[in-house]
Amino acid sequence: GSDGTQLHMFLFPFLAQGHIIPIVDMAKLFASRGVKITIVTTPLNAISISKSIHKAKSLAAPQIELLILEFPTAEAGLPDGCENADSITSLDLLPKFFKALSLLQAPLEQAVLEKRPHCLLADTFFPWTDDVAAKFGILRLVFHGTSFFSLSATEFMRIHEPYKHVSSDTEPFLIPHLPGEIKFTKMQLPEFIRENAKSEFSELLNRVKESESKCYGVVVNSFYELEADYADCYRNVLGKKAWHIGPLSLCNKGTEEKAQRGSESAIDEHECLKWLDSKKPNSVVYVCFGSMAKFNSAQLKEIANGLEASGQQFIWVVRKGKEEEDDGDWLPEGFEQRMEGKGLIIRGWAPQVLILDHPAVGGFVTHCGWNSTLEGVAAGVPMVTWPVSAEQFYNEKLVTQVLKSGVPVGVQKWVRTVGDFIKREAVEKAIRRIMEGEEGEEMRKRATELAEMARRAVAEDGSSYSDLDALIKELKSSAV
Ligand code: UDP
Repeated sequence: GSDGTQLHMFLFPFLAQGHIIPIVDMAKLFASRGVKITIVTTPLNAISISKSIHKAKSLAAPQIELLILEFPTAEAGLPDGCENADSITSLDLLPKFFKALSLLQAPLEQAVLEKRPHCLLADTFFPWTDDVAAKFGILRLVFHGTSFFSLSATEFMRIHEPYKHVSSDTEPFLIPHLPGEIKFTKMQLPEFIRENAKSEFSELLNRVKESESKCYGVVVNSFYELEADYADCYRNVLGKKAWHIGPLSLCNKGTEEKAQRGSESAIDEHECLKWLDSKKPNSVVYVCFGSMAKFNSAQLKEIANGLEASGQQFIWVVRKGKEEEDDGDWLPEGFEQRMEGKGLIIRGWAPQVLILDHPAVGGFVTHCGWNSTLEGVAAGVPMVTWPVSAEQFYNEKLVTQVLKSGVPVGVQKWVRTVGDFIKREAVEKAIRRIMEGEEGEEMRKRATELAEMARRAVAEDGSSYSDLDALIKELKSSAV
């Protein structure tokens, strides 16, 4: 279109909080630059999304609409209300969930036909959107929700399969062509790669690859200065067309800080901040494992004991496994009484970015989901890395070996959502390393510098700000 046409984008996040949250932030960001945005989702997910764009509506003419597609749970054999990956409680539901997602193709096509967006930005887990875009001749962008580091590492891992040449699961190997001599072990890879098993998920990943080769480009929630070598590698060595526009959690700061992100908080945000206000700077460690990971009672008990032994004040977000619904035995005897005033347990959803950004918070124990990792970077806190599954082991390497703003708790093995078992001594030791002593100070210094770089990246004329400009200009001139 000519310069006069308003660019209209469909944003279509995967149905999981770790994908919805950055896309909603992205919607606000694009809207603030004059792009008309339609977020495509399902009825239950629409409830929390509309709450988090509600505040944005009061801003100067942000143009964000919701397009709600019925989710075919019954047709796909899913239980009622199963519209988000966090409600997938058993492995056999996963293929059904993806089946339901693929059934969204027809209603999405209908919506594209009616609303005629110029561009469809779709999650990597919707490979079939390549057909939709082709059918209507619109541009398609892909969103992965992870770092340049892990995008590059995954790609080299896929091409060269270095794990096929080691003699044991624990023998370290290098990822060929990945800058920085990063070592990996086979244990840190997902089972279906480790065991070379043909699963429905590996088929999906093949389809994802094929689909990505046809897209117009990739949008990345990161900033150039954080991982310049890997951004360059992804673009120049792997030849991907990509724009970095993050940290997305920073892009809407100041205008609507209290807007809900993800689900409704399980704690009064005001109370939580008041509690933090009473603490000294950098004296509280925040412990949270994202929206999916669910530890069993034995692991929760080790964490509790490790936290107590570390002597640090803490906020600990607990999301228990389904089989552990009753509140009985996962806390050590008398733990909450002993920790009164010293530690706060949030059972359920926490206002994570508000907590991380509070000056009292001086460390973050994280599962290394990319959103959490980047939020930790933007908040300038050193991290204890505790990867569980997905691509979290890659993000751990970035933090501990490249950025050197964190230490590993010592997880050895990728275990889908439930995680590898970690002992209390390891928890205590890692927390002390980031919160105390010279090593902790060094990491805090680096973390503070990274946070400053993040702020500059999204400020006017910063690298992420400029890349977003370039993307919008290019979309405008290519849109027909
Ligand atoms: N989050 C939150 N409160 C919680 C747990 C998670 O606000 O109690 C947010 C967190 O800030 C992040 C997202 O949910 O934006 C989780 O995404 P991430 O990529 O870190 O992990 P995932 O949940 O996808 O494993």
